[in-house]
Amino acid sequence: MVTKWIVFSGGVISGLGKGIASASVGALLSKKYKIISLKCDGYLNVDPGTMNPVEHGEVFVLEDGGEVDMDFGHYERFLNINCKSEWNLTMGKVFDIIRKKERKGDYLGKTVQYVPHVTNLIKDWWLSVAEREKADIVLLEIGGTVGDIENELYIEAARQLKNHVGEDNIMYSHLTYVPLPFGVKEQKTKPTQQSVNLLRQRGIIPDLIIGRCSKPLTDHIKEKVATYCDVKKEAVISGVDVDCVYKIPLVFEKEGILKIIKDKLKMKVSSDLRKWKTLVENIGKGKLVRIAICGKYMKLEDSYASVVEALKHSDAHLGCKVEISFIETSGLKDAKKVLENIDGVIVPGGFGKRGSEGKIKIIKYCRENKIPFLGLCYGLQLATVEFARNVCDLKNSNSTEIDEKTENPVIDILPEQKEVLDKGGTMRLGSYPAILKRNTKVFSLYGSEKVSERHRHRYEVNPEYLEILESNGLVFSGMSPDGRLVEYIELKDHPFFVGCQGHPELKSSLLSPAPLFYGFVKAALGR
Ligand code: GLN
Repeated sequence: MVTKWIVFSGGVISGLGKGIASASVGALLSKKYKIISLKCDGYLNVDPGTMNPVEHGEVFVLEDGGEVDMDFGHYERFLNINCKSEWNLTMGKVFDIIRKKERKGDYLGKTVQYVPHVTNLIKDWWLSVAEREKADIVLLEIGGTVGDIENELYIEAARQLKNHVGEDNIMYSHLTYVPLPFGVKEQKTKPTQQSVNLLRQRGIIPDLIIGRCSKPLTDHIKEKVATYCDVKKEAVISGVDVDCVYKIPLVFEKEGILKIIKDKLKMKVSSDLRKWKTLVENIGKGKLVRIAICGKYMKLEDSYASVVEALKHSDAHLGCKVEISFIETSGLKDAKKVLENIDGVIVPGGFGKRGSEGKIKIIKYCRENKIPFLGLCYGLQLATVEFARNVCDLKNSNSTEIDEKTENPVIDILPEQKEVLDKGGTMRLGSYPAILKRNTKVFSLYGSEKVSERHRHRYEVNPEYLEILESNGLVFSGMSPDGRLVEYIELKDHPFFVGCQGHPELKSSLLSPAPLFYGFVKAALGR
C-alpha cells in the first residue's frame, strides 16, 4: 500500500494535546495498518535528555535507548508499538547534521539555506524513515503552535510534502481551541479562525479541524468554523475535555473522524476498540486506593507522566479507584505526617542531592510500617542506602551521586561511566535484560525468569556491598545476566517492598499493565 500521511499541527495555545489527538487517531486505525509516529520539536537540544523534566515534562526512554519527547509515551501506549529514536526529530539534530554536511563539503559551491537545504533534509528524513519502516500510515506531529518561529521549517516541509506524496496520500489536521469564556455563554471561534489563517498563509489548508472545547461544539459553531476556515462542516469535530485521555479515541470515533479519513485518504478504515472501551470505563471505579508519588519535580505533574499512566492501567485491571497525591521531598521533616492517609508509596526516578534525604525518610517509614513501596531507579538506589544505614548499620551510607566522599558508597557510579564527560545521551540507556530469582515477589509478578525493562541511569548498587546487604535480609531478586548488576531488590516479611533499577512504567499500557505496578496497587488495595 502507498504510505498515507496524517499531519498534526496545533494552534491558539500550546498544551492542547496534539500528541494525544494524534495517538488517538492511531489507536483507531492500528488494528489493520502498520503505523509509525514522527514528532518534530523546534528546540535546539539534540534530544530532551539534558532538559529538566519541570521544563518539558518527562523524558521518555525507548527500547533502543533514545531519550525522546514524552508524546512518544502516548504513541506507545495508544498504538502498542515500540517507537525508535529516529522518529523524534529536533532542530538540534537537524542543525547538527547540516553543519557536519557543510564542513564535509556536501554543499560545495552553494550557499546553504533554510529553503531548500534544511527543508529538504527534514523531508528526506521523514520519507526515509517511512520507507525503512514500510509504514502504511505515518502520523506526523509538528511541535508547538503555528506561527512559532522555531517550527516554521517543519511547517514548510510539511507543505512541500504534499507535492511529493500526492494529494490523496496526505491529510492535514489542525488542533485548535474553542473557548467558552465565563459569562459569554457562547463558544468563540475567532482564535480558531486566526490560527487557521496563519496556517493558510503558510500554504496549508486543513482537511480536518479538531476544536478543543469544554462542551461539545454545537452545530452552529461547526458551521461557522467550516465557513471561515474553508473546510467541510463534517470535518470540524469536537475535542471535548475528558477526565481520562483514553476516552479520546472513543470521542473522535463518535464525531465521525473515520469517515473524514476514509474520504480524504481514499482508504479502507475500521476500528475495534471494544476491549479498550471496557477497560476505560473501569478506570476510577471501585474501592479507593491512595498512592503517593514522592519526588522533587512536583511543579509539573508531567514530570512523572508515565508513572501516573501506569497506575491508571493497573486501576483499570484491578477495578479500583487510584487517587494520586504528589509529595515534595525537599525539606521534608516528618514522613509519618505526610503518609498518614496513604496506602502505597512510589519513589520515582530522580537525580541529585535535593530531596534525597526526604525520600530516604519516606522509605524508612514505609519499610518499618509495612506500607507498600515501589522504588523506581533512584527509588531502588535510595531504598538500598536506607537499608544500609538503618538495618546494616553502615554509618553514613550514601550514593556517590549525593556525597562523593561518603564512608560507605553503597551506590556508586558504573566503572564505564567514570571517564564519560559528555552529559547528553551517555547514561546506561534503553532496554536491558535481567534474570529473576524464583520464589521472589518480582518473579511471581512477571511470571518469567528472563525479563527486561528500560534504563536511564549512571549509578548502580556497589558490588562490594552485596554480601553484607544480603546477609541482613535485602533480597536481590533480579540481576543482570552476568550477575554483576542489581536489577531488582525486595524485602521478605513486608506486604510489598520492591525496587527496580529500570523504569517499568515506560512499558505499561492500558491493555497490558506493568506487572510491578499491578502487584504494587494490589498490595496497596489490600491495606
Ligand atoms: N540519578 C540516578 C542515576 O543516575 C538515578 C536515575 C534515575 O532515577 N533515572 O543512576
